[in-house]
Amino acid sequence: MRVIVTGGAGFIGSALVRYLVLEKGYDVLTVDALTYAGCEASLKAVEGKPNHRFLKADICDRAAMDAAMVSFRPDRVMHLAAESHVDRSITGAADFIQTNIVGTFTLLEAARGYWNGLDEVEKEAFRFLHVSTDEVYGSLGDEGLFEESTPYDPSSPYSASKAASDHLAKAWERTYGLPVVVSNCSNNYGPYHFPEKLIPLVILNALEGRALPVYGKGENVRDWLFVEDHARALDIIIERGRVGETYNVGGRNERRNIDVVRRICSVLDTLVPADAPREQLIEYVTDRPGHDARYAIDATKLETELGWRAQETFETGIEKTVRWYLDNEWWWAPLRTRYDGERLGLSTAVPEPQV
Ligand code: NAD
Repeated sequence: MRVIVTGGAGFIGSALVRYLVLEKGYDVLTVDALTYAGCEASLKAVEGKPNHRFLKADICDRAAMDAAMVSFRPDRVMHLAAESHVDRSITGAADFIQTNIVGTFTLLEAARGYWNGLDEVEKEAFRFLHVSTDEVYGSLGDEGLFEESTPYDPSSPYSASKAASDHLAKAWERTYGLPVVVSNCSNNYGPYHFPEKLIPLVILNALEGRALPVYGKGENVRDWLFVEDHARALDIIIERGRVGETYNVGGRNERRNIDVVRRICSVLDTLVPADAPREQLIEYVTDRPGHDARYAIDATKLETELGWRAQETFETGIEKTVRWYLDNEWWWAPLRTRYDGERLGLSTAVPEPQV
């Protein structure tokens, strides 16, 4: 099996690459532009493996994507490359429009060109998995779950750009017959998570005795999924999922943000006792503009149709994650200099004209 993984130097992409290369034994080509969020060190475990190659390239570069398809001849493309941080999309949406929308379009076109040249058997077997987020569905109230049929209603520039890319992926299947499957997943956490996101930021700030910023009152609910469960789900979806379909991925682990932060503090207090309980470091800060109240996934379709189950609960997964950060300072210390925790995404000021 020959698989191209875009965004494979990112958080979820690198978990997927490690899984496909080390556990499945597939031949994998990682395609990644190495933006601020990309990290070659996340691929250390597959470095030098004969079944892994790395290509530094931008998914918006049509010629580079064509060349990657033609020279690697993939059976599958798993598309994860994206700008992924909501706060950054509020500060400046241009990169999100470019990578998430134009980049997905470019990759779909390159895949379509390559796929058209395959023979009938190869064409039938080829799959393109477009990896997306549950944020495209907008916000839930206290009740209910996101289902695959939930109407799109994105709130942030990030989720709007992902929604646009989902529509492109679906349209390329309906219009051109490209065998596309789409997955929409809830919030991930786990090893190799860039420390701008809530969970790794809180772990590292708490370790260093720094303030733990919690947006608003901390009552926003997210449905947390351990990243290695997501990687297995993506492999199952591209293997067995029906072409043209969407599969929601979620771990049935809804937690309020404040409870996530408190849980991390208590795990750290047990593993690395400090002078005072780390909960004392919590600071409530101005809420994110357009902050969705609650996300929760109904993963019944993936569970019943494709037989996937999350293996980690939030409690087991968060303990593994905290232990991983304690043991892997070599990975995160250089990233703390790339991003030292400054607040992003507060300003909704009108940008200066570009003329
Ligand atoms: P990430 O930000 O950690 O990684 C993104 C990767 O894409 C980086 O390695 C970056 O260098 C690369 N990249 C960015 N722009 C590129 C470009 N133009 N060309 C090539 N490579 C480029 O993101 P992540 O959290 O691993 O998310 C991966 C995918 O999963 C994204 O599509 C995201 O929307 C989706 N997703 C994420 C979550 C989550 O909780 N993190 C949940 C659901 C879905």
